[in-house]
Amino acid sequence: MSTGPTIALDGPAGTGKSSVSRGLARAMGLRYLNTGAMYRIVTLAVLRAGADLADAEQVAAVAAEVDLAVGYDPDQDLAYLAGEDVSQEIRGDQVTGAVSAVSAVPAVRARLVQLQRELAAGTDGVVVEGRDIGTVVLTDADVKIFLTASAEERARRRNAQNMAAGLGDAYEAVLADVQRRDHLDSTRAVSPLRPADDAVIVDTSDMDEAGVIAHLQELVEQRVGAHR
Ligand code: C5P
Repeated sequence: MSTGPTIALDGPAGTGKSSVSRGLARAMGLRYLNTGAMYRIVTLAVLRAGADLADAEQVAAVAAEVDLAVGYDPDQDLAYLAGEDVSQEIRGDQVTGAVSAVSAVPAVRARLVQLQRELAAGTDGVVVEGRDIGTVVLTDADVKIFLTASAEERARRRNAQNMAAGLGDAYEAVLADVQRRDHLDSTRAVSPLRPADDAVIVDTSDMDEAGVIAHLQELVEQRVGAHR
């Protein structure tokens, strides 16, 4: 029986993490698990239930009952809440604005971490994308990658995306938001965003997406080859 590698891919928003995770999975014929989507589905359930986001017990009660499913296919980022396809809705502003509060609730993390471990174990090789995969979810992953890029470069990329979507040029405001979220994510009490001690840190500031994917594939092949 051949079992492919388990790859943990973490890092802050704006590093190109999602496209790179998907591209790496595609290039290596692996499954892809988007853990951010799982936090987003729980957040949608919390919003629909009308729970108070500031009340951890209410949020935890919804999370305990939520019936969620995500796809494994790097070409289709599918997300379901109680059988309903919510792949688009979980990307909307409402969910994006509330997901940090929901993902800071320990009971939410405990339930999703457990589910993420089960899903990863059910694959024959997978790229798992998130914030705490190398440090908490899959501490024995074959390869741990932590993507970074300067706050300025991440703000520049996001501002360019916003402008392409018809929003105005607001670089300074976007940069301030990136810096604020970096601070919140890296200082929160539960699973703060940080690289695992054994993660390979890859700075994508001066690389394009194809370059990052090729670099990571080489890195994985070296590591996994060396393991066997
Ligand atoms: O990756 P994405 O931006 O979709 O993640 C949405 C949010 O879910 C993040 O901002 C973070 O608050 C949370 N998250 C997390 N742990 C993960 C993945 C996502 O806390 N492993």
